[in-house]
Amino acid sequence: MTLTGLLAAAQPALASPAAEVTDPVNAAFGEAAETYQVPRELLIAVGYGETRLDDHDGAPSHARGYGVMHLVDNPTHRTLVTAAGETGLPVAELRSDTVANIHGGAAVLRAYADEVGLSAEERADLDAWYPVVARYGGADADASARLYADHVYDLLRDGLAATVGDGETVVVQGQEVDPERGEYAEADLGVLSDDYPSARWVPAHTSNYSAGRTQAIDTVVIHVTQGSYAGAISWFQNPAAQVSAHYTIRSSDGEITQSVRDRDTAWHARSANSHSIGIEHEGWVDEPSWFTDAMYRSSAALTQHLAAEHGIPLDRQHIVGHVEVPGNDHTDPGPHWDWNYYMELVGGDPGEPGEPGEPGAPELTFPSYSTLANGSTGPQVSALQYLLNQNGQNAGTVDGQFGPNTESAVRGFQSAKGLAVDGKVGPRTWTALLSAGSTDSLRQGSSGAAVSRLQRALTAALGRTVSADGQFGPLTDQAVREYQDSRGLGVDGQVGPLTWGALQSGR
Ligand SMILES: [Zn+2]
Repeated sequence: MTLTGLLAAAQPALASPAAEVTDPVNAAFGEAAETYQVPRELLIAVGYGETRLDDHDGAPSHARGYGVMHLVDNPTHRTLVTAAGETGLPVAELRSDTVANIHGGAAVLRAYADEVGLSAEERADLDAWYPVVARYGGADADASARLYADHVYDLLRDGLAATVGDGETVVVQGQEVDPERGEYAEADLGVLSDDYPSARWVPAHTSNYSAGRTQAIDTVVIHVTQGSYAGAISWFQNPAAQVSAHYTIRSSDGEITQSVRDRDTAWHARSANSHSIGIEHEGWVDEPSWFTDAMYRSSAALTQHLAAEHGIPLDRQHIVGHVEVPGNDHTDPGPHWDWNYYMELVGGDPGEPGEPGEPGAPELTFPSYSTLANGSTGPQVSALQYLLNQNGQNAGTVDGQFGPNTESAVRGFQSAKGLAVDGKVGPRTWTALLSAGSTDSLRQGSSGAAVSRLQRALTAALGRTVSADGQFGPLTDQAVREYQDSRGLGVDGQVGPLTWGALQSGR
C-alpha cells in the first residue's frame, strides 16, 4: 500500500493526505510517535537496534521478524499479530510496507506501555520506557532482555544516523539518559564464560542443542545472524528456535556471548554439528557495513583460542563458512565476508583453491575456459561451482550441472564484483573467479599455488593458454606484461595489488 493509502486507512489522527512525503520514513516515525504517544527517538532507536532501519526487502530474520521494526511472528513471540490488532492493518502490509511497519512497532510499544502501566506523564519520559523496550526485544531471560534494552539506551545516549529508503537520513541526537531498569536491574550480566573468559555466558535453552559430542571437534563454522546480536542470543533461549550456536559476536564492538558450551553440540550447521563449533556474527550477508574490524578481530581471537584448545588446524578446510558445509541451504557468511583478512588475523593459511590434496577440489586448470550458462555441463561447470562456493556464493553441490542454483550464485558473484549481472560465465567472470584469493606480490622466480592461480586467471583473461605449472618463469612474465599492457596498467611483469585488483575485478 502506498503512504497515501495507509494514511487513508489508518487512524483519523493520521488522515492528512497533504502530509509531506518527501521523507516518508522520517514522516512515518513522526506520525507513529504522535499517534501512539511513544517518544520518536525511542521508536527510532528500537528499530535501529533491531535492524539498523533496513527492511531487507521484506525478507524475514532468523527469528522470523519483519521490516525495520522487526515485527516478529514465531511460535512464542508474536509482535506482528499484536501490531495488526492494534493498528487494524493487514499482516502482509505490516511485514512489507515500511510506513505500516513503523506504525506497527509504535503500536506494540504503546500496548506494552499500557500493560506496564505507564501514565501519560511517564510516556513522555524516555527513561521510564526501559521495561517496555526490554519486552519488545522478545527475550525470555532477564539477562538477554537487559542486553537488548541497554543497547537501545546506548543508542539514545550516543545518538545515531541511518540512511534509509531512497536516501533520506534518520537522525537521533545523543542525549543524557538514565534508564529506570526496575526488575531488570537485578539481571546478572556479569556471568562470564568458562570456555572463553572474555565472553559473556547466556545459556541457550536446553531444547536447542544436544548435550555432549559424538565426534572430536575439528572445525569452526562461520555464520552471519541475519538479525541483531541480542536477537540471536534470545532466539537461542527460545525453546521454539531449534537452533543455537556456541558463540555470537556483536558488530559494533566485537563483544562475544557464549550460548552453548564447547563440549556440547550446538545446532547450527546440520551435518557438521557433531564436530564443529559455530560462531555467529551480527549482521546480514548482503550488507558489508556490519562486518566491522572490531568484529573480525574479536572473532579471529576466539577462533585462535578454539584452535589451540581443540587442535583445529588453522586453514580453510577446518575454518569454513556455513555455505561450505555439505548438505545445507544457507549462504552465510556471504560474498562480503573477507576470508583473506580473517585468515590473516587468525594467523592461518589463507589456502589456495584447488591445491592438491584438498578434499573435494575439482580440476581447475584448463587450456581455455568456455563460456558457460544455464544448461552447461561438465568439468568446467564443476570448477565453476567449486570456485563460487569458495567465494561465499552458494552454488550447491559440485555436480557439473549448471542449473538455477549455479546461475543465481553466478549472479551473486557478478554483483559482488561489480560485473555485468547476466548469469553467464564469460572471460571476465572467469578471470575474477580464477584469480580470487590472496594478493601476495609475485614476480619471475616465484612459485607455488598462488602462481598457478595467477596463470589460470591469465589464461581466461588473455584467451590463450598460460601453462599453470606454479612456476613464474619467462612465459608467465610475458603473459603478465601482455595483460598489464592491454589493461592500461604499468608494465613491469610484477604482480602486486594493482594487477591482482584488475584480475579480481574481472578486467
Ligand atoms: Zn549460518
